[in-house]
Amino acid sequence: MRRWNGWGDESITVEPKPAAAAFLRERLGEGGRPRDVTLDEAAAGAPASRLAEHPLIAVDPRVRIRHARGQSLPDWIALRGGSIGAIPDGVACPKSQEEVRALIDHAAACGARLIPYGGGTSVVGHLTPTSGEAPILTVDMSGIAALERLDQRSQLATFGAGIAGPALEAALRPFGLTLGHFPQSFELSTLGGWIATRSSGQLSLRYGRIEDTFAGGTVEAPRGTFEIPVFPASAAGPDLRELVLGSEGRLGVITRAVVRVSRAPAAQRFAAFFLPEWAAAEGAVRELAQARAGLAMMRLSNPVETATQLALAVSPRLLRLLDGALRLRGLGAERCLLVVGAAGSGRQVMGLLGEVGALLRRAGGARAPGAFARAWEHGRFRNAYLRNSLWERGYAIDTVETALPWAGVRAGMQRIEAAATAALAAAGERGLVFSHLSHVYPTGSSVYSTFVFRIAADPAATLERWRRLKAAVSAAIVASGGTISHQHGVGRDHRAELVGEKGPLGIAAIDAALKVFDPDTMMNPGTLIG
Ligand SMILES: Cc1cc2nc3c(=O)[nH]c(=O)nc-3n(C[C@H](O)[C@H](O)[C@H](O)COP(=O)(O)OP(=O)(O)OC[C@H]3O[C@@H](n4cnc5c(N)ncnc54)[C@H](O)[C@@H]3O)c2cc1C
Repeated sequence: MRRWNGWGDESITVEPKPAAAAFLRERLGEGGRPRDVTLDEAAAGAPASRLAEHPLIAVDPRVRIRHARGQSLPDWIALRGGSIGAIPDGVACPKSQEEVRALIDHAAACGARLIPYGGGTSVVGHLTPTSGEAPILTVDMSGIAALERLDQRSQLATFGAGIAGPALEAALRPFGLTLGHFPQSFELSTLGGWIATRSSGQLSLRYGRIEDTFAGGTVEAPRGTFEIPVFPASAAGPDLRELVLGSEGRLGVITRAVVRVSRAPAAQRFAAFFLPEWAAAEGAVRELAQARAGLAMMRLSNPVETATQLALAVSPRLLRLLDGALRLRGLGAERCLLVVGAAGSGRQVMGLLGEVGALLRRAGGARAPGAFARAWEHGRFRNAYLRNSLWERGYAIDTVETALPWAGVRAGMQRIEAAATAALAAAGERGLVFSHLSHVYPTGSSVYSTFVFRIAADPAATLERWRRLKAAVSAAIVASGGTISHQHGVGRDHRAELVGEKGPLGIAAIDAALKVFDPDTMMNPGTLIG
């Protein structure tokens, strides 16, 4: 069963190595935490549902609480501390487009607001119900999750939008096809959620972001049914897919999506390299991106992230041996870990990794033992479970991400890290702050920063720590000229910065477009724009 106040399935626990716990104690101090409330305790305080009865709507407080929040740090603090705030008045799990229509009509008749819910993996406050007079109906899309049509000749697959990553790939596998969309939240997040948040997967260098693979589909909006036809390409005016991409549940419920799929590669391999320091490493990655070398992934960790990954993954004895060997090759404390992925025929993969290895050696790099790449591959989805075990030890993790032109990548990363460190210091806390480049482009890169800090004895104090941290790093992103989100979206947490990023005319245009589909603002109000 899925955890109600943490990540993933309750049967799966991923523990840090003993040395990693010591590493965190040394860097941050001893972690402690208040007792978490139980689901029963949280349910006991739930208000009665204000929704009129409907055969598709469940009003059990446990179900409502399970759909009340996503996976952001404030969401965890609220759920674990028991200050959940508003919860949906009911949760429906429709099985067809007709049922979605019926639910929208029912919500409209009751004056209710409606929140589309995919996998509930949002990390920016997309799913938090707005407190107020209007009842809230959350529509869980997990019941509309089938492969409805596959046009193998055109490589177009039509899915119910509630399908989660593993089921989607399993449906394509027998046909030798893949969508190739692998966010770290792959296990739980859904196709509809990916489209609604403009998600990006780990192998986007090969398969593209979701906006590259989303070809068309159906949206049930309060105003009616919106069909987006599928073409290989079109010059027929503005592309209306763009209205749906990033709509964050404000436009309507995406019920069906047609996606461009690819032939699954015969071979896929990951390889890890150490580079001597950031400037050389960033330069090498940029060169590979601009040469359009054909890699499926490049993920470059800065020195602190590299040291943290080594401390988390390798025993102290092995780490000493590795450190000695690397230092002999000029790879000291400033070394950066680069993981690359290649996919294609066996020969293409070997050839490409050979060429990339040669370029990285010229940049002063050295290939890491194969175990590093294997460990990264093994942990690429499982490491999300570490959030649970670190919380148990009294440590919170939060992340932010942006994208910047190459000219601003390094300065932006440094500015974000400095802002985070200063914000935590102002709260009297040491932070473990590190970054990596997760998605690279010829013109720039995403910068993904992680902050680990202690949970306070009082959940309100932890939330305050987070608020100050978030305000500081968001300001640093804006000051660096970065977008407020490269892949997580806007939700409630980035709404203020969106206003600056889009400008008054841009926000007015978004608002006007949403009103065409949802004239009474019943869809997920409070998310994306105020
Ligand atoms: C551990 C972890 C790792 C993550 N890694 C990545 C990553 O690598 N890349 C990445 O891009 N993101 C990542 N995320 C963020 C998150 O997984 C994405 O934003 C994801 O796309 C959300 O999908 P979901 O199905 O869970 O949507 P939800 O969280 O359920 O919803 C998100 C938003 O989309 C709307 N929505 C959902 N389904 C529909 C629908 N059918 N119709 C209309 N609107 C809908 C909701 O109303 C809401 O506004 C990560 C999150 C976590 C917790």
